[in-house]
Parts: sequence; structure tokens; C-alpha cells
Amino acid sequence: MLDAQRKAYLTAMGIETWRLRTHPDVPVEEKKQRLSDENRSAHHSANQASNTGDPPMTTQDKPLPDWSELIETVSTCRQCALSKTRTQTVFGVGNQQADLMIVGEAPGGEEDRQGQPFVGRAGQLLTAMLKAIGLSREQVYIANVLKCRPPGNRDPMPQEVEACRAYLDRQIALIQPRLILSVGGVSAKNLLQTDQPVGRLRGRTHQYAATRTPLMVTYHPAYLLRRPEEKAKVWMDLQQVVQQLAIQ
Ligand code: SF4
Repeated sequence: MLDAQRKAYLTAMGIETWRLRTHPDVPVEEKKQRLSDENRSAHHSANQASNTGDPPMTTQDKPLPDWSELIETVSTCRQCALSKTRTQTVFGVGNQQADLMIVGEAPGGEEDRQGQPFVGRAGQLLTAMLKAIGLSREQVYIANVLKCRPPGNRDPMPQEVEACRAYLDRQIALIQPRLILSVGGVSAKNLLQTDQPVGRLRGRTHQYAATRTPLMVTYHPAYLLRRPEEKAKVWMDLQQVVQQLAIQ
């Protein structure tokens, strides 16, 4: 991407005073061997399925779902109470072979209406953040920990996260991203099983245990809309994302 273009996107993020630095292009290399962690992920997922009457997503005598089966399963899922209040499920969107996967917490009101993750003002800011590092929404995969909106945009409850975890794990196993970028405290808390705030988790590489995928943490775009002074930190985090993708 030309510096002028990147500068325009940084301006959209509100970081126009920052000096642009060059970054290495994300290398296009062979994707890692597919689904080497499937069995581990499937075992984890089966153990995590909720006890709401529906069968778990995986069983020992049934093959793991492919993309179309997974999408269909999620669209009709009733494994937690959020199925009663949602307008529709919000599965995820993007490149099914993406190197970078963005994981937020749960759909909000607009996402619930449109059936797409990260739409509205926060979604526009996420798009600007990605473009600032030379990526489009179509090049990454975007999903949430929960596939259904919690009423009133409250935080997800632990039992809801556990009921839905198998779907996220299967998405990660199918995509095999080289890096997960967890956006926001709720996502980080549930992906890393920690109560540490984003401010203490950002700036280093963690690992998503279920699939052993490298994971970094940054602030949620919705938080940046409320606290624009934190955008500079996110820009630093995005530079680390670029570096992490380049060295793998
Ligand atoms: S939040 Fe997840 S587990 Fe709960 S109903 Fe929606 S898709 Fe199913």
C-alpha cells in the first residue's frame, strides 16, 4: 500500500500525527498443514458443549463439520438462552484461509439486525485499522466469541461462552490462522482464561490453548470510539501484528 493511502487510513483512525513507518509485507507462504489440531480441538469442544438438551457438535463416530455444516449448525443453534432473544445468529465473515483472524466478544444491536460482525461505527473503525496495516476486511476472518447477541449488549455469561466455544474452536481449526487478534477485554478474558485487563495483555504474544494459535490482544474499536486517545496504543499493537505475521 502506498504511504499516502496508509496515511489516509491512519487519519481515519485519528492517528494523523504519527510518523509512518515502513513494515515488511506479510509473506505469502504455504498454509500450515491443515487441521493437525482437529482432534484436540474436537475433544475440547465436545467436553465444552453445554447441557441444554441439544447434542454436542462433535461425537466420536461423526466426522467434524465442514464449513457448510458448521454454518448450518450455528444458524439453528439453541444451546443457550440467547437463541430466544436473538434476531439471527452472526457466524463470522471473511477469508476462510486468512492468516489473521479477528475475534471480538459478541454481536451488538446492528450486528444482530444485519447478521454480520463488526458493522456500524465500530466496524468502520476496525476496517480503518486493518487498512492501516495494508489489509482489507476480505483478507482477514472476523468472528466473535458468541454468535448471538446478549440482550442489552450485556457481557456474555460463562455458560453462554462455554456453550458457544465449540463453534469458535471449529472456525479456528478450519481457518488455521497464523495469528488471532483478540479485540477487547471480554474476548481476551474468554480466549485466554484470564481476568487481566487489556492494558496488561497487549504488547506480547499469547497462545489460544485449544488450537495452540498465537494470539495478541488490543482494544475493541467501540472502546476507541469512547477513548480516542488510546488509538495510538492500538497503532503500536497493529505494528506488532505485522511483525508477528512476518516472522512466522
Ligand atoms: S450464543 Fe452460541 S451457543 Fe448460544 S444459541 Fe447462539 S450460537 Fe448457540
